[in-house]
Amino acid sequence: CFEKLHGALGDCSCNVDTIDYFNNVKIFPRIQSLVSKDYFRFYKVNLKKECPFWADDSRCAMKYCHIKTCSKEQVPGYENGYDNDLIDESPATKYSKEAQSSCNDDADHNPHLGYLNMTISAANQFEIAKWKAYDDALENFCECDDRDADAEYVDLSLNPERYTGYKGPSAHRIWRSIYQENCFRSKLNPYESFPYVLSSDLSNMCLEKRVFYRAISGLHTSINIHLCSKYLLSEKTVGFAAPPEGEWGPNLEEFQRRFDPSQTLGESPNWLKNLYFVYLLEMRALAKAGPYLEHEEYFTGNPTEDEETRGAIRNMLGVIYSFPDHFNESSMFIGGSQALNLKNEFREHFRNISRIMDCVGCDKCKLWGKLQTQGLGTALKILFSGKWNSPDSDLQGKVPLRHKSHERLQRTEIVALFNAFARLSNSIRELENFRVMLSAQKEPK
Ligand code: FAD
Repeated sequence: CFEKLHGALGDCSCNVDTIDYFNNVKIFPRIQSLVSKDYFRFYKVNLKKECPFWADDSRCAMKYCHIKTCSKEQVPGYENGYDNDLIDESPATKYSKEAQSSCNDDADHNPHLGYLNMTISAANQFEIAKWKAYDDALENFCECDDRDADAEYVDLSLNPERYTGYKGPSAHRIWRSIYQENCFRSKLNPYESFPYVLSSDLSNMCLEKRVFYRAISGLHTSINIHLCSKYLLSEKTVGFAAPPEGEWGPNLEEFQRRFDPSQTLGESPNWLKNLYFVYLLEMRALAKAGPYLEHEEYFTGNPTEDEETRGAIRNMLGVIYSFPDHFNESSMFIGGSQALNLKNEFREHFRNISRIMDCVGCDKCKLWGKLQTQGLGTALKILFSGKWNSPDSDLQGKVPLRHKSHERLQRTEIVALFNAFARLSNSIRELENFRVMLSAQKEPK
């Protein structure tokens, strides 16, 4: 049955025990408190996008798949510019720029030339903005849909990730397509059955492709741990006309069924290690973008809350910087055009996974699936787009010393990045809870 993991993770110099201690004691309490802040609680997402790959056949009928969205007015600070991704700046920055530009009028400029110049530069600016948006989109590992007309805000605290009952052919088609079409494998398990990928095959893959597979598999592990730790244990009647209320909690049997090596052809210890691996990947991205993230405003319109959020960010990043054994992405995509092609392929495969999320047939699973892929995609963008590679960064995994002003993440990307990391952190913590439950069960009565 499930045993505590020990030892090396593979593809990095870190081991499981180091992460267990670091996460459970230092990161977990900080990140959980951080994502409960208003800035991180509201996620803008389009859950109505059509599946681009097959007819949407399987709307989940279970009430636990349902999502409560918010009106814009319910989002703190919305009227003061919360939705500032549309203008890409918080009101404070915008106002100071406006003030600046009116002060910058050059007293002795030729008004005719000035007019001509401004016309050209306005047109240029428009074109350049379009080019920049195009270039930025190329660097993205995800399809962003927060600017779609159908995008809505969701209060994540009202829609927790947990057991929904989504399973069977629809769920399997999603996982299978993800592994089949997007993990660089032309052929999955030849028996066309589970598991989709055998870890014995991974040793033949290059590092980059292995990292890709392990990140996806780690995400899969995390999702499944959450549904085990917040399982529907029972339903109770709460009132005459009210629908029954679910009681949610850990289900050890369900956990063991999923992660018992004897039930998974010995694969499940690797799936669990992949969770630690993707955790390490996202933590390194947070460290790498740390100096930038420290300078974000985290604007919600409430100065006290925003200051607390900035303080909590600095505190958590400080702890992350102190981690002794960060993932070292500098050993990936080295070489000439071949490496560049591989990187482009890597990005395209990941984008495809973000599109597959629109095919998930349960809104709650889709919400968290989209958030976590966007979070991972943002981490990959930080690690591999080159924008955060500072010449004075210590690529052994520590802190870039300077913050470059042209680096910019959208609000949704930041919200997704931290929440995705919080989910992984929570999964690692939940593993500890299951271990405790298991040893309590084994103790003689
Ligand atoms: P699945 O998890 O469907 O896995 C299929 C097969 O993949 C397994 O038999 C195994 O061989 C292999 N596999 C399993 N884990 C791994 C791994 N970590 N790495 C590599 N291979 C693996 N359900 C909920 O209740 N709540 C949710 O919030 C939720 N979110 C979801 C989000 C997405 C994007 C998807 C696709 C599904 C989600 N589900 C959710 C469904 C859930 O993940 C399972 O698909 C479902 O519970 C059925 O489980 P299963 O035992 O058939 O195996």
